[in-house]
Amino acid sequence: SATLVWFRRDLRAFDHAALHHALQAGGPVYCAFVFDAPILAGLPRDDRRVAFIHASLVELAAELAQLNGHLLVRHGDAREVIPALAAELDAGTVFVNEDYDPAAIARDEAVAAALAAAGRSLQAYKDQVILAKSEVLSQAGKPLTVFTPYKNAWLKKLNLDPALAAPLHVEPHAAAFAPGRSTLPSLAQLGFAEVDLAAVGVTPGMTGGAAAFEAFVPKLAPYGTARDFPAVQGTSQLSLHLRFGTVSIRHLVRTVRELAERGQAGDGGAVWLAELVWREFYQQILFHFPYVVQSAFKPVYDRIEWETGAEADALFAAWCEGRTGYPLVDAAMLQLNRTGFMHNRLRMVTASFLVKDLGIDWRRGEAYFALKLNDYELASNNGGWQWAASSGCDAQPFFRIFNPVTQSQKFDPDGAFIKAFLPQLARLSAQEIHAPWLLAPGRTPGYPAPVVLHDVARQRTLARYAVVKK
Ligand code: FAD
Repeated sequence: SATLVWFRRDLRAFDHAALHHALQAGGPVYCAFVFDAPILAGLPRDDRRVAFIHASLVELAAELAQLNGHLLVRHGDAREVIPALAAELDAGTVFVNEDYDPAAIARDEAVAAALAAAGRSLQAYKDQVILAKSEVLSQAGKPLTVFTPYKNAWLKKLNLDPALAAPLHVEPHAAAFAPGRSTLPSLAQLGFAEVDLAAVGVTPGMTGGAAAFEAFVPKLAPYGTARDFPAVQGTSQLSLHLRFGTVSIRHLVRTVRELAERGQAGDGGAVWLAELVWREFYQQILFHFPYVVQSAFKPVYDRIEWETGAEADALFAAWCEGRTGYPLVDAAMLQLNRTGFMHNRLRMVTASFLVKDLGIDWRRGEAYFALKLNDYELASNNGGWQWAASSGCDAQPFFRIFNPVTQSQKFDPDGAFIKAFLPQLARLSAQEIHAPWLLAPGRTPGYPAPVVLHDVARQRTLARYAVVKK
């Protein structure tokens, strides 16, 4: 009987678990994507991610047409749209790739129940990670909450079974696609604005993902050192493509391993692979400990009293808008606001600054990143914030407090990154730019004085965190 493949965060027509299995099951195979109204309702009209998804769907529909399939794009509550569409197409099974976000799990359970009530079924496959849920556990069968043992166990599993990264082909089974015409509402019909993604350096779709990876391959060998400097394009910029599945994790992992075997990945290959493992580490943390969405992974950290009230709100606004008076923090926040991307080093620096210099609850910063980051991923964002706040699994100890000036001197030594976002500091020398409040008055017109003094804030933070020791 007919089947329906429901695309969500897997916007590609190659190496795709759900598509592969649906096509192998026979056919005819229909394909659909739902702009989920409850999710869209909470987003600004010029959301870059909606524009990215839309453009990626245009490409996906074209690619499916090449394979004699088509894509039906709908707008509504997926919990109603998918069961209705399955009925309309008389599809006995709906194939999906698993999503480990608690909200997605709840949605999928609701869809599965509605389908079951009509004698249909939802079949889910692992696709967006190499190892999911409980596939990597300790000897005692428990989830691993420290990264290094998790990584070692992850690598061991893949070494023993390299087929975990083998492609799940689509094209050889394309005869099973149901022919037809794709339907795709415009962004305007969805109530969203066009966004110039090229202006922020983003190319959507499978072509964008492939181009980003191709550009990164020569940078793999020096990645271990280059990745820490925001002024250098030393990282892959693949997070957005991993988020929406316009690249295949299996393809990335396979390619890195092949390059390493041929001696072409240098030291950087293993370091980059470890970053991909961090992604899976946080996904399984979220899966096993879904309470981290609201609470500290280490419960004692929820005893901390954060700053609240008008003064805290004003400091939070200064942080959001890049007006803290700390150039590296401000340039990073401007990068986030203007492009939707922020370099990993700067995510650590700005998160630490909010929590440990301003004393503001990590959840507020996490929510701001969730709104702004193109690559926003609940598991990684929550993991990153709880790492910075020291409340997470395998987080940095609470008494380790980034010094925003030292971080700036170390990772943007000549101020090139800062100057790209703060032209009012363009004339300052490499020595001057990291702490402009030390300069003679009038040197930095239009740039604010620091909202807090780091040394004072540091003492306050150590006192604030003392409750975790009791
Ligand atoms: P690369 O350095 O090329 O790394 C390759 C891939 O590995 C990334 O695309 C990403 O998928 C994964 N990765 C790298 N570092 C991490 C990490 N620390 N944790 C989990 N996965 C990682 N990443 C997100 O994808 N979405 C988020 O919402 C997110 N929020 C973060 C919030 C904070 C406070 C911090 C400290 C980190 C956050 N990260 C998040 C992780 C990391 O900063 C980004 O994945 C990375 O900067 C993306 O750039 P890239 O693709 O060039 O990375």
